[in-house]
Amino acid sequence: MRDLTDAELAELIDKDIFHKISDAADKLGLECYVVGGYVRDLFLERPSNDIDVVVVGSGISVANELKQRIGKRAHISVFHNFGTAQVKFGGMEIEFVGARKESYSHDSRKPIVEDGTLEDDQNRRDFTINAMAVCLNKGRFGELVDPFGGVDDLWDGIIRTPLDPDITFSDDPLRMMRCVRFATQLNFFIEDETFEALERNADRINIVSGERIADELNKIMATRTPSKGFIDLYRCGLLRIILPELVAMDVVETRNGRAHKNNFYHTLEVLDNISKATDNLWLRWAALFHDIGKPKSKRWDALAGWTFHSHNIIGAKMIPSIFKRLKFPMDAKMKYVRKLVDLHMRPIIIADEEVTDSAVRRLMNDAGDDIDDLMTLCEADITSKNAARKQRFLDNFKTVREKLDDLKERDYKRLLQPCIDGDEIMALFNLKPGREVGELKKAMKEAVLDNRVPNEREPLMALLKEKAAEMGLV
Ligand code: ATP
Ligand code: MG
Repeated sequence: MRDLTDAELAELIDKDIFHKISDAADKLGLECYVVGGYVRDLFLERPSNDIDVVVVGSGISVANELKQRIGKRAHISVFHNFGTAQVKFGGMEIEFVGARKESYSHDSRKPIVEDGTLEDDQNRRDFTINAMAVCLNKGRFGELVDPFGGVDDLWDGIIRTPLDPDITFSDDPLRMMRCVRFATQLNFFIEDETFEALERNADRINIVSGERIADELNKIMATRTPSKGFIDLYRCGLLRIILPELVAMDVVETRNGRAHKNNFYHTLEVLDNISKATDNLWLRWAALFHDIGKPKSKRWDALAGWTFHSHNIIGAKMIPSIFKRLKFPMDAKMKYVRKLVDLHMRPIIIADEEVTDSAVRRLMNDAGDDIDDLMTLCEADITSKNAARKQRFLDNFKTVREKLDDLKERDYKRLLQPCIDGDEIMALFNLKPGREVGELKKAMKEAVLDNRVPNEREPLMALLKEKAAEMGLV
């Protein structure tokens, strides 16, 4: 975060593209501003290639004028029914829109739109930090228009709506997801009044399409500390609607003085752990869902206490319906998450006992290519507060990993055993066991190891013949 005077802002947007937009707008005599995320990111020192431009008047006309100035190097798409235009140029996407005023009906996210002033346009934006505009017209180039104190909120790390949050969220409930998403991405605090409006309007999320919710969830999932987002979603009541299966894990029951752990907060700890180890989005989802079967599998046993037998299998069975409901891909990604949930206990069971070759080999066979991801998940799953116990698991995992590497190495060597053997070489070139056979074998093996030829009969045969000729054997 940095402070910027108008002069400094002017310097930051002192780029060919902004001057061209400026000229285009001035020629048409229209007020023109860069707004929203691009301005916010200038203050946050985050580079951005998406530029939103608001024109007080026709955004399309300025886009057309800009296109004329750039010529063939720019590509323009015009959307007449939305009154918007997009210009792509030099890796940038510039979105033009006329300043507008919006009014909403109760059952739809689609507003009735009228032409408006810059102020109207800023009023309809979701958060104060997203409602700042910088003027592009020549006389005012670089002038910041920040009616709601967006800069102050950036400094204070606060998310809040420009107008009454109840109206902002009720008008377009997707903004509730965006609210939590920005708070998570920026590690900001959701201001109290805005947060209370989230609680009051949570049910309105039902009019938002699954795809849009999924987009925001994935953005939350991709942050450094995704648990923050899920906790905010939980506290305001959105999670209860979107992912009730997770909410069901927030219980601690005690019987005869024996309590089980809170699986909701354990899960969030696992999620943050794994997010330090990987950016793989679907592996992170697998972490969030790994214990999702626990509430359904919970039993009390007079001897053993609380048990969660087969929670991995029950959890894996829940994955397809959760994915379907969240409009997540039902392809290999779903199967990957389901498999990891299903297998997540296996390395722990192996590591709890003596680590045998055969157990590791069976695990490798079941997990296939996803074995490393499974190990990453299991390591993240060790959240025990007992340091000695934690260390014992981590040590045993190390042994499992070493065994895996060892087996992989052996299998790798087996794979690399050339498919033509010594006997065949002797028959081919009429040789007795001896130095020549060794040399030919070596040439073949080197070529395969170096990836110069595939480990297949025909190419190897050609290679052998060449080498034999070199050695004067044929
Ligand atoms: P990012 O692109 O990093 O996700 P952004 O703020 O640029 O963040 P966009 O979705 O690209 O988000 O939207 C651009 C701008 O449009 C926002 O900064 C905001 O001013 C406005 N905006 C987007 N979606 C909404 C919405 N649902 N309600 C109100 N304003 C919105
Ligand atoms: Mg953007």
